[in-house]
Amino acid sequence: MNTLKPLLARNRSWALLKLNSDPHYFEQHLHQQQPHSLWIGCSDSRVPAEVLTGSHPGELFVHRNIANMVDPADDNFMSVLQYALHYLKVHRIVLCGHYGCGGVQAALQLPQMALADESSALSRRIGQLRDVLGHKIEGAAPKTPDPETLNHLVETNVITQFSRLVQTQPVLDVWRSQRELNIYGCVYELATGHLKTLIEKTAEEAV
Ligand SMILES: [Zn+2]
Repeated sequence: MNTLKPLLARNRSWALLKLNSDPHYFEQHLHQQQPHSLWIGCSDSRVPAEVLTGSHPGELFVHRNIANMVDPADDNFMSVLQYALHYLKVHRIVLCGHYGCGGVQAALQLPQMALADESSALSRRIGQLRDVLGHKIEGAAPKTPDPETLNHLVETNVITQFSRLVQTQPVLDVWRSQRELNIYGCVYELATGHLKTLIEKTAEEAV
C-alpha cells in the first residue's frame, strides 16, 4: 500500500464528484486565488484545515507546522504570513491548536526524551517550543502528564502563539492601515470534531 495508486484513484473520483455537482468547480479558481482566511495550524494528520471547516479550494491559505508555532525568526512562516496579508489580503487569520497535540506533549516531556540529546531540526523546534512556553511548562508535572494537564497546556500554547502573532510586523502593518483583519485563536477537539474560539482580536481593538 505504499504506491501512489490508491491516492490517485481517490483523487480522480473526488475530481469527478466535484465536476458532476458543478461543471465550473475547477474553472472558477483557475487564474487566481482569493482566499478569505489564513489558517495556521498543527501538521497533525487528524486536523485537516479544509476538511474540518468544510472549505473548498480557493478559501484557505494554509501554513501548518508541528504545534502551530508562530516564530518571527522562521522565514517559512513569516513569508506565508506576509504573502497572505500583503498580497492576498485575507481578512481573517485562524490560529488553531488541538487537544492531544504530540508536539506540545513532547515539549512538556523533552528532558526525559532521547530527542533532547539529538542535534536535529525536530529537537531544536521542540526545544524552542519548550522555551516559548517557559514557566507555564515548569508548573506542569512532566513525568506522566494527565490528559487535563496536556489539554490545558495546548490552550496555553494557542494563547502564547496568538500573542506572538498579533505582534508580528505584517499584522501590525495591516491594522495600522485600517484594513479589516480579525484574528482568532482556536482549539480543535479530536473527540468531537468541534472547533472553538479561545481568544480573538479585531482591527478595532488593535487601534
Ligand atoms: Zn499537534
